[in-house]
Amino acid sequence: MLLFLALATCLGAAESPSTQALWAVWPSARVSPADPWALKHAGLRKVIAQLQAAHPGLFSIEAEGLSAEGRKIPALRLGTGPTKVLLWSQMHGDEPTATLALLDLLNWLGQHRAEPEAQRILSNLTLWIIPMLNPDGAERTQRRNAQELDINRDALRLSSPEGRFLKDLRDRVQPLIGYNLHNQNPDLLAGKGGPQVAIALLSVPGDEALSETPGTRRTKQLALAVKRLVGDLAPGRVSRYDMDYTARAFGDSMTRWGTSTLLIETGGWAGPGEAARLVRLNFVALLGSLSAIADGSYTSLDASAYAQIPMNVRESLSSLVLRRVRLASGRALPPFLVDLAFVVPGPFAGDSQRRREPSVVEVGDLAHARGLLELDGADLLALPWPQPELPADWGALRTALAAQDLLSVDEPRLLAALEALGPKATVRPGYTGAVLLYRKGKAGKLDLEGAVLRGRLVGHLMPTAAPILAPPD
Ligand SMILES: [Zn+2]
Repeated sequence: MLLFLALATCLGAAESPSTQALWAVWPSARVSPADPWALKHAGLRKVIAQLQAAHPGLFSIEAEGLSAEGRKIPALRLGTGPTKVLLWSQMHGDEPTATLALLDLLNWLGQHRAEPEAQRILSNLTLWIIPMLNPDGAERTQRRNAQELDINRDALRLSSPEGRFLKDLRDRVQPLIGYNLHNQNPDLLAGKGGPQVAIALLSVPGDEALSETPGTRRTKQLALAVKRLVGDLAPGRVSRYDMDYTARAFGDSMTRWGTSTLLIETGGWAGPGEAARLVRLNFVALLGSLSAIADGSYTSLDASAYAQIPMNVRESLSSLVLRRVRLASGRALPPFLVDLAFVVPGPFAGDSQRRREPSVVEVGDLAHARGLLELDGADLLALPWPQPELPADWGALRTALAAQDLLSVDEPRLLAALEALGPKATVRPGYTGAVLLYRKGKAGKLDLEGAVLRGRLVGHLMPTAAPILAPPD
């Protein structure tokens, strides 16, 4: 038994670190700030300088691009191995999660550089890391660069200095593998009815026919390695990114140019501490998969299993869903039965024209959809209350309604009060006002029990959490 343990320990030292070990070590490796969206160019430079001071000789700043507004874009080089890997993050300025994980990863490599796990990466791989390709966009927390170009659609024309920098570096280094690191809309499900997507993956194709080549087979295997790492911690929360071949996009072009590219999109993993949990998950995914490249273990995975990863499913996850409420929707219509979905947007804005304000996003039969929180509204009457101003909280709302004697009220009088508010008092996708929730009380009166303010439920009603919230760390 003792011999077995000694042998196991010995083997353990030579093997890649386990998922749980990587997860556990992250707090001690962490150098990144608490809020990913608060990290701007100056903050990034500062952390890089701290890492250089803490770990002399670990990496060099091998190349520096210049953004459209003249911010320096560092590309870090480390390791001495024959396999070259290029990782670039935040080509979309409002997508910082992987940037933070890369900084933590650098610190981990520095802390452990004398140990076999880090040694294997540093002696088998040469890593090129661009932590923040679009500092001008990051400064504004926006997707595009200062020219208002989407750098990820500029791979052919190369009108952006950031795109030219990335292309020049690729052509000079000729890396075997690329990591294209992004955030996606957090409101996606992993397969129909599945949990919220924490990480979406794409083995980026190199042609319209989506041909399987040695390069795309490699990134399918790498995607499966990441799925295994992430799936151990966040079961079911890994999906395949839903996008066709796009010649002018960088990932697709990289693959076509000979650097087979894995797209990693960070989604959401709702619950307290979400942003840090997603950085931690990226840390595990990046470090674990680099380790699998370094020891070659990912090449034993069956690439055909890639097709079994569930697809991203869009427009089916909301922040809050009210189920089976009677809705008095305005326009003097009689109440009718609906589900109501609300979304509270986060700091990721993406490229859609979607509202930055919390709002109703859907009205109707939403049996296919899920909410991070849901409320059974079977005995509730819901109605919009857009005037005069959105109250600050539940107390202010009650005060405003008490002044009109609407805390406990007959239904006809309530509906008449609603009608008096005019056409603005209509619940439809995009509606940003309050939604009041009444329950039938004593003597046939309706009593105000709760409301939705800025997409959040207030008052006395208890929502049920759908089983898709993260467990506490
Ligand atoms: Zn992106």
